Amino acid sequence: MGSGQVTDWQGKHVTVAGLGVSGIPAAKVLHARGAVVTVVNDGDDARAREQAAELEALGITVRLGDGATLPEGTELVVTTPGWKPDKPLFTAAREAGLEIWGDVELAWRLRGPDAAPWLAVTGTNGKTTTVQMLASILKAAGLRTAAVGNIGVSLLDVVLGEEQYDVLAVELSSYQLHWAPSLRAHSAAVLNLAPDHLDWHGSMEAYAADKGRIYEGNRVACVYNADATDKPSTEDLVREADVEEGCRAIGFTLATPGPSQLGVVDGILVDRAFVDNRQKNAQELAEVSDVDPPAPHNIANALAAAALARAFGVPAAAVRDGLRNFTPDAHRIAHVADVAGVAYIDDSKATNTHAAEASLAAYESIVWIAGGLAKGATFDELVAKSAERLRGAVLIGEDRALIREALARHAPEVPVVDLDRTDTGAMLAAVQEAQRLAAAGDTVLLAPACASMDMFANYNKRGDAFAAAVRELGA
Ligand code: ADP
Repeated sequence: MGSGQVTDWQGKHVTVAGLGVSGIPAAKVLHARGAVVTVVNDGDDARAREQAAELEALGITVRLGDGATLPEGTELVVTTPGWKPDKPLFTAAREAGLEIWGDVELAWRLRGPDAAPWLAVTGTNGKTTTVQMLASILKAAGLRTAAVGNIGVSLLDVVLGEEQYDVLAVELSSYQLHWAPSLRAHSAAVLNLAPDHLDWHGSMEAYAADKGRIYEGNRVACVYNADATDKPSTEDLVREADVEEGCRAIGFTLATPGPSQLGVVDGILVDRAFVDNRQKNAQELAEVSDVDPPAPHNIANALAAAALARAFGVPAAAVRDGLRNFTPDAHRIAHVADVAGVAYIDDSKATNTHAAEASLAAYESIVWIAGGLAKGATFDELVAKSAERLRGAVLIGEDRALIREALARHAPEVPVVDLDRTDTGAMLAAVQEAQRLAAAGDTVLLAPACASMDMFANYNKRGDAFAAAVRELGA
């Protein structure tokens, strides 16, 4: 199966690896196109059996409780993106010289000949926010578009659906990129790169390489983070990518932009990349205050979204209008309330240290509520970088000792409350302790730097508990 669109699926033996949100629709569409589909799945619980029955009724073969062996005669594997690359099924497929496609690759191959181009976004943090900003900007320019992909909107549904689009704002995870060898975006951005999901990818190099795939074959622009100091940088990934002739590397920076960059000058978002140099050398796009919240990392997200929109030819006024129309999703630096001169901010979505570092950088004097499941992370760098902004810290959750120890090493003078409770009232206690530590003008910031599942169903529930506790304080 070469690259490009596949037109003849008749009689092709395809193994779909994994039931679930992407496996079931993949199996159905391939079956409908005439492929001989076998679905393999590790689990065989009641839910899997129910799903299997539904597929079997259509004539699809399903093998439950055995996701490890490659069915005889397989010509192509289509996998759930989350399956780890070192699974025996994939080893067998590679040994047999077969291609392995993820959900994004399948959507890319099945899209119609006149399909909308993709503006693609990845990064360790800020993906969802950036594609939403991008979609808002594209809409403000009068384009038919949607924010799709890893954001929770299936690309397969979008490319096979009735609705017509001019362009798509596509969020891609590192897993999806790993399994998307032939994807070619119009333009793409890698927002930032910090260690995450390393158990899945195997190493930082492999993680970065998978993120870097988003630049492969870009036609107009490869957008990189010009402020990043980590190695490999997103600019390194652009350099390594094989792009179409004429495709440009475009940087975004919170500082004054150089040529071929977007940046910030005196509170104004400025484009020095997509301007006609014979007429002027910079184009004002929007004001920093047009971005909600105007925290530094979020200005970076806005600049990346603006760069992709400008690469697509969107006028400056639409960038401004699109940013003004944008409101962030819940639990992302959401201002809950001011109580006695203290601002309470919910950034429950800061589930890793890189995200928490960004939100801690956005405030001057902070009582920090943190903790949960560390997922193998260490906290020394985060605490060392944020120490001077901390008025106090309240620690919750299973791995709080790791943060406590980092605070003792790098911020020994900061008062710490260690809450040894996981009951439903624990968040109220945490917020009360934070209130005790805070003075007027301070910010109480929930930016846990950890996953929530030790105490809450998910980060939404954690943020809701925080907001409810703050409301109780105010009452
Ligand atoms: P993702 O989709 O990549 O998880 P989100 O837009 O949902 O990203 O933001 C998740 C969290 O990451 C936010 O709550 C914020 O704490 C943090 N964040 C957002 N943008 C950035 C950025 N550019 N750099 C660092 N952290 C960020």
